[in-house]
Amino acid sequence: MKNIMKEIPLVILLLLSCCHGAHAQQLKKNVPDKLVVLTFDDAVLSHYTTVATLLKQYGFGATFFVCEFGKPSFQDKSLYMTWEQIAKLSQMGFEIGNHTWHHTHVNKMDSTRFEAELDYIEKKCREYHIPKPVSFAYPGYDTSKRAITVLKNKGYRYARAGWDRPYDPAADSPYLIPGFTTHTENTKQGFELLQEAKNGKIAVLTIHGVPDDAHPWVNTSVEVLKGYLNYLKENHYTVIAMRDLDKYINAEPTY
Ligand SMILES: [Zn+2]
Repeated sequence: MKNIMKEIPLVILLLLSCCHGAHAQQLKKNVPDKLVVLTFDDAVLSHYTTVATLLKQYGFGATFFVCEFGKPSFQDKSLYMTWEQIAKLSQMGFEIGNHTWHHTHVNKMDSTRFEAELDYIEKKCREYHIPKPVSFAYPGYDTSKRAITVLKNKGYRYARAGWDRPYDPAADSPYLIPGFTTHTENTKQGFELLQEAKNGKIAVLTIHGVPDDAHPWVNTSVEVLKGYLNYLKENHYTVIAMRDLDKYINAEPTY
């Protein structure tokens, strides 16, 4: 009895470490320090008119997570990109990711509806000769286990949420990748996050419009974006799209 009692803590420890790593991806090669993934959400017009040109000047990769917002409407082309413009971003070498058709939170729909929301964006991508998305961003950073099952079944490899902390591929599920949401007032925290991109951890920035006339509460000014891009360039960061994580981690869906 005494011996069994002694071994229990070890068993618990093993179980805990097993569960902790259960969703983590196997590394193909070591994640270098100063690795950053740039993501831009919601198909805002300034992604085409301002952001893409800037990123090209800096030679940085990025993922644009697109959807067709209801409010204000995606049909308002003074606020959002057209599908032709989204296709142009893809032709420029950027990744187009799926952010659902209507920007619907995953806990507000069943699996069938969620599949239909993903299918719509995939269909538009086919229509406009954009590669089938392999990355997903949760609208409103609302996540669920059920959504992860659907994403895996449909061949998605990465899914980004919120939480404002670095991504640790050795511990975090690739279907629950944390992102830091920038806006004009939180640059101090943003730069702190970038400095945490070391020892296997990756900084993932979530940026909305630059500026964001559709959703002003997530506005990032051009000056703030340029501040981040200058910092990344001057400090020799590697700046990639989400799908480029394939280089570092084994991205096949696992169950
Ligand atoms: Zn969004």
